Amino acid sequence: MASDKPFILVVEDEPAIVELVSFTLKQANWETSAVHTAAEAWELLQRRTPQLILLDWMLPDQSGLRLLSKIRADRHFSGLPVIMLTAKSMEEDKIAGLDNGADDYITKPFSPRELTARIKALLRRKAPEHAQSTMTAGPVSLDPVSCTVSLNDQKIDIGHAEYKLLKFFLAHPDRVFSRSQLLDKVWGDHAVIEERTVDVHVLRLRKALKEGESLIRTVRSVGYMLSEK
Ligand code: CA
Repeated sequence: MASDKPFILVVEDEPAIVELVSFTLKQANWETSAVHTAAEAWELLQRRTPQLILLDWMLPDQSGLRLLSKIRADRHFSGLPVIMLTAKSMEEDKIAGLDNGADDYITKPFSPRELTARIKALLRRKAPEHAQSTMTAGPVSLDPVSCTVSLNDQKIDIGHAEYKLLKFFLAHPDRVFSRSQLLDKVWGDHAVIEERTVDVHVLRLRKALKEGESLIRTVRSVGYMLSEK
């Protein structure tokens, strides 16, 4: 079973900062991987899409800003949350970072608490399915910390794929998603499963939700949505 913790990629070449950041992220219950160059970061991105990137401005092979532009230009990563880490505190640098598509900006030195707060805020804004608060719809509630789903406050059995699917739906209520969007968002960009697999998991999810099954709507010839209405 794959980990359900948000995966955060740290691109930073200063060992002391890498150590501080990695420790802080683990304490906050996030999974993390650190690379030291832009090339290594790009290579890792081809294998696994993180939920968020912490990107240093000054890297040994190319600037973090160049990597950011490359990330933003790629269809798969254009919406990926990115926080720039930098020693620069000049206003124009900050603007350059944001102009190039950074979502936020942290100036070194920063406190672990500030780092965690900024990451949480950005995840809440850009990827609510990775926020760590309980989500509910009708009789169904999902607790991302304990990875449990309850129906009228009674815990229910649910498979891992169905859990992830439900979590995604709960984070984006009243929005219709196509099968291919669900594959991308729930199973990840690099998933090699067929679209009809989504139907199988939706079916299983409805079964698991019992009287809550009507929350998951089929929108004909479009896809699926979660709605209480
Ligand atoms: Ca650096």
